[in-house]
Amino acid sequence: MTYQSLNPFNGKLVESFADLGDPQLETRIATADACFQTWRHTSYADRAKIIAKAGEILHARADAFARIMTTEMGKRIGEARGEVEFSARIMAYYAKNAERFLAPVKLDPTNGEAHMESSPIGVIFCVEPWNFPYYQLARVAGPHLMAGNTMLVKHAGIVPQCAIAFEKLLIEAGAPIGLYTNLLISHDQSDDVVDDPRVKGVALTGSVAAGRSVASRAGKNLKVSSMELGGSDAFIVLEDADLDLTVPWAVWGRMYNTGQTCCAAKRFIVVESMADAFLEKFKSALGALEAGDPMDEKTTLGPLSTEQALVDLLKQVDGAVAHGAKVALGGKRVDRAGSFMMPTILTDIAKDNPAFREEFFGPVALFFRVKDEDEAIAIANDSDFGLGGSVWTRDVARGRRIASKVETGMMFINNIDWTDAELPFGGIKDSGYGRELGDMGIQQFVNKKLVRIH
Ligand code: NDP
Repeated sequence: MTYQSLNPFNGKLVESFADLGDPQLETRIATADACFQTWRHTSYADRAKIIAKAGEILHARADAFARIMTTEMGKRIGEARGEVEFSARIMAYYAKNAERFLAPVKLDPTNGEAHMESSPIGVIFCVEPWNFPYYQLARVAGPHLMAGNTMLVKHAGIVPQCAIAFEKLLIEAGAPIGLYTNLLISHDQSDDVVDDPRVKGVALTGSVAAGRSVASRAGKNLKVSSMELGGSDAFIVLEDADLDLTVPWAVWGRMYNTGQTCCAAKRFIVVESMADAFLEKFKSALGALEAGDPMDEKTTLGPLSTEQALVDLLKQVDGAVAHGAKVALGGKRVDRAGSFMMPTILTDIAKDNPAFREEFFGPVALFFRVKDEDEAIAIANDSDFGLGGSVWTRDVARGRRIASKVETGMMFINNIDWTDAELPFGGIKDSGYGRELGDMGIQQFVNKKLVRIH
C-alpha cells in the first residue's frame, strides 16, 4: 500500500489508505477536465472568493492542520503551525494579485498594435513531496487555480492525511467538484496521468530521480513541466561576517524542519580566518539541541520523517567517513525511541569523497575551510545542484558581487535561503527548471498569446 500515515516519533501506524483503482482514476481525470471547461470562463473575482476563503480557513484552524502534519511526518508543532499560516498567506496573495499578474501586456511593434494575453491551459498534474505537506500544495494551488486551470495532485505516500485535509479545505471553501482533486495513486498510475491527453501540464517537487522520471515522461508527451528538485546550498562566511548574527542563522538554515528542506544550508564554506571560531560556535549551538516529542512546543530537535530516512542518512554519513571525512559532531542516531538523528558536522571532505557531491537531507552539515572569497565561490559552484545559497558579510556590495557569481536560481545576502508568497522559487542544473510563486510561477501554466492588430 503506497499511502500510510505512520508517526515517526513513536513508530505507530495511524492509518493506511488503498490506492485508487484505475476506473476511479479515470473518473477523476474526466471530472477535472469537465470542471476546467467552466472554471476557465469564471472571473478572477469569482475564483478569488474560493481561494481567499481557503486561506481564511487555514488561518482559522492552523493548529488542527498543523497537528496532522506533525503526526504524519514529525515536523515540530511550532514550525508546522508556521507552515500552515504561510500557506494561508500564499492563498490570500494569489486571490488578490493573480489578475494583475495575468493582465494583458501591450507590446510596441514597428507597425500596428499588438498585445500578449494570458489564458489557462487545462488540467495540471502536480506531484508533491512530504517535507512541506501544505506549503507545497498552496504553492501550486494558489497561482494555478487563480490562473483558471484545474488540478490533479499526487502527494507523497507518507502524508495522505495532509493530502486529504487540503482537498477537503478547498471543497469547504466552495470549490466546484474537479477543481482540485487529490489522487492516491502509484508511480505507474502517475505515468498514466502524465500520458493522458486531457492533462496539459506537469509540476513536480521532489528528488532528482523523481524529476528525471516524470520530466522525461512529460517531455515524451510534449507537455510543459516545471521541476523543483534537490539542492546542496552553500552558506558562505567571509572574514568580515558578524558571527553573532551568522551562527544562529546557520543553525536555523541547517536545522529547520530537521534539515529536510531542499533549500536548507547544507555546505558551510568558511574563510580560514573565521573557520575555527565559526566551527566552535556552530558545534556548541547544534550540540545543545535536544530530541523530544515534536508535539511539545519546547522540543528543539524533531525526528526525521521516517525510520527509512534515518537509516539512509546514517549510511550516507558512514560512507562519507569511510572516504576520509571526519565527524566534528554527532554522526549517530539519538539513543532513544523514535527516528532521531544527532545534529552532525562533517569536515575534511575531499573532492573525491562521494559526499562532496551528495545532498544530505537531514541534520548533517558539511564544513569546508577555504583560503579566500575566490575559493569559496569555486567550491560553491562545484556542485551538480544549483538551487540557492547565501553569503554572510558586513559589506553588502561585496555580498552582491559574490551572489552574482554563484551559479544558482536564488541567492541571499545575510539571510538564509527562504521563500515568500510574492517571490519566485526554483533552481538550475540538477535542482530543476521553471519557477513556482511570483510572477514567473503564475505564468508557468498559462498560454501567452500574441494578438496582433493591423
Ligand atoms: P521523492 O522524489 O521520492 O518524492 C516526491 C514526490 O514524488 C512524492 O509524491 C513521490 O511519491 C513522487 N515520486 C517519486 N518518484 C516518482 C515516480 N517515479 N513517478 C511518480 N511520482 C514519483 O522525494 P522525497 O520524498 O525523498 O523528497 C525529498 C526530495 O525532494 C529532496 O531531494 C529534496 O531536496 C527535494 N525537494 C525539493 C524541493 C524544491 O522546491 N526544489 C522542495 C522539497 C523537496 P511517493 O511518495 O508515493 O513515492
